[in-house]
Amino acid sequence: MERTDGKPVTGAWGTILSAEEWCELVEELDSRKQSGTGRKKGTTVTKRLLTGIARCAKCGAALSSGVYQKGTVSHEKYGYHYYCRAADGGCGSLSRSGPPVEDHVENQLLDRLRQQLIEAGSSATEVPELTAARQTLRQIEADKAEARQLRADDLLSLAEFAREIRRLEEKEQAVREEAAVLSTAPRPSKSTLARVIREWESCTTDMKRREMERAIDTVISKPAGKGGAQRGAFRPDLIEIVWKC
Ligand SMILES: [Zn+2]
Repeated sequence: MERTDGKPVTGAWGTILSAEEWCELVEELDSRKQSGTGRKKGTTVTKRLLTGIARCAKCGAALSSGVYQKGTVSHEKYGYHYYCRAADGGCGSLSRSGPPVEDHVENQLLDRLRQQLIEAGSSATEVPELTAARQTLRQIEADKAEARQLRADDLLSLAEFAREIRRLEEKEQAVREEAAVLSTAPRPSKSTLARVIREWESCTTDMKRREMERAIDTVISKPAGKGGAQRGAFRPDLIEIVWKC
């Protein structure tokens, strides 16, 4: 909907989409028509590798991606970045150059898939988090036994004992639920793992995204803290990956 002078037609019926949002929508639809994948370089609607997967540690908002301003060092070096976008309801205080974050997450994912491939060859196919959950449950059992013993020896009042048991049972319930989810998390077959690892470099962004969404819950991007923002080298400690399986 454009007039011949190129200005968007604005109605008197109140704003449903702002002119800018309308342009983004048109661009998105056009890019889908052209490529069939919804990707188009240099627009805010580009679906990059970590779009919708990476989140801001400060406010939890999903990070958007954007192209650095042309002519800047950042544009020369990295091209684009992920950032917490205030217009989408985020805190707006976080930005990370795209390629180093993506490389890091891809490497971590491949390491994990390689490890899963090794484990798929042996009998130990349990995810490490499930092993940890089982360990926690055993510890809770031991703590309950200790509380009972302390109560029996009259070293805990009845009120203290009741509080402690309730605390442990609540924790036990939470860990049991977590373990139930983990034990049903789907793991790809050995041949699938091998193929993904072998063909990763030639995968399209969409293919990589599918694999990431299967294995990764969230990639949390943490702020650098006082004075450490984006100065020099990439900091992998500021990226936390939450795995699904
Ligand atoms: Zn934020």
